[in-house]
Amino acid sequence: MELMPAMTLERPGTVEDAVRLRAEEGAKYLAGGTDMVVNIRRGIERPAALVDLTGIEELASIAAGPDGIDIGAAVPLSAVATHEAVRRDYRAVAEAAAEVAGPTHRNYGTVGGNLCLDTRCLFYNQSEWWRKSNDYCLKHRGEICHVAPGGKRCFAAFSGDLAPAALVHGAGITLASAEGRRRVSLDALYRNDGMDHLALEEGELLVALHLPKASAGIPSGYRKSRIRGSIDFPLAGVAAALRMEGGTVASLDIALTAVNPYPHRIARTDSFVGGPLGGDELDRLRDTVRTQAKPMRTTTVQPWYRRRVVGAMARTLLAGLAGESA
Ligand SMILES: Cc1cc2nc3c(=O)[nH]c(=O)nc-3n(C[C@H](O)[C@H](O)[C@H](O)COP(=O)(O)OP(=O)(O)OC[C@H]3O[C@@H](n4cnc5c(N)ncnc54)[C@H](O)[C@@H]3O)c2cc1C
Ligand code: SF4
Repeated sequence: MELMPAMTLERPGTVEDAVRLRAEEGAKYLAGGTDMVVNIRRGIERPAALVDLTGIEELASIAAGPDGIDIGAAVPLSAVATHEAVRRDYRAVAEAAAEVAGPTHRNYGTVGGNLCLDTRCLFYNQSEWWRKSNDYCLKHRGEICHVAPGGKRCFAAFSGDLAPAALVHGAGITLASAEGRRRVSLDALYRNDGMDHLALEEGELLVALHLPKASAGIPSGYRKSRIRGSIDFPLAGVAAALRMEGGTVASLDIALTAVNPYPHRIARTDSFVGGPLGGDELDRLRDTVRTQAKPMRTTTVQPWYRRRVVGAMARTLLAGLAGESA
């Protein structure tokens, strides 16, 4: 790890001031710092200034109202994991927050930092000297991708735990920029590009995550596979929300993390709506998940294993949810 370089630390008190300060040359947002500071010390990020979001009151609360639950971007993950209404009505979200890293990271790490997390790769999340001695790579300062050397694409995986769980509950987000605020679906935040996976305007700030009333109480859950159960990023993660009525599927949503450059919603789950969810259908769902997961050689664990495990976790999770909501 490198020493921390010299930089300015800004501590705005409002969203508008944060956006204004972020517009300065070389400024970046800092929330809990649990990824940003690591990346600075690896020479991946070199901000001239950090705009600390943790002193902004508007970003710091969880509010339950008639439309659902609004979670400020600077709320720590530990507060999401233990919030009574989130645990009761949006269980996958609480479970995912409880599974991020270790307890200390969850006390510092925030909702906004987790949703805006940089993509990860074995050839990227390394020290400066390691990356330099491997001629860097496309994502940062280099000219080739070590994972798929013939191409011009980056396959670094989005590995945040919270996004898939919020996606299966149909979450929205509010974004702020110098032009004002806009509200979009969480899906719209991501694109399938490991080098540029966030569809944010330059300097745009994530203000809040909205969990809609319409999906409150739908049985949901989150499972992840990782090397060390107490601390690691997911090698593969799956969230699902399933509503059964009279023994048939009324609604079904599945989303994955850590196996694509963006949190990936499983397509074609509609074909299961209106039918039962027995062993045959669960096997088909497992295979659908495996087909749509596209892990690459971005971790120390082989892609074939991550594809197998994500399908198996999806099957187990859905079998449990089906039993619960039958
Ligand atoms: C050992 C270790 C294990 C980890 N394991 C996991 C894991 O299992 N699962 C997981 O998901 N993560 C893991 N992480 C990564 C990290 O701890 C979490 O993702 C955390 O939630 C990041 O939030 P933060 O507030 O610390 O973000 P920061 O590090 O402060 O910021 C992360 C990025 O988001 C941007 N950002 C922050 N807030 C906003 C905002 N409101 N609007 C726009 N941009 C913003 C920052 O500019 C930066 O680019 C791990 C980290 C470590 C060091
Ligand atoms: S997938 Fe390729 S370009 Fe992207 S970080 Fe890994 S090695 Fe670099």
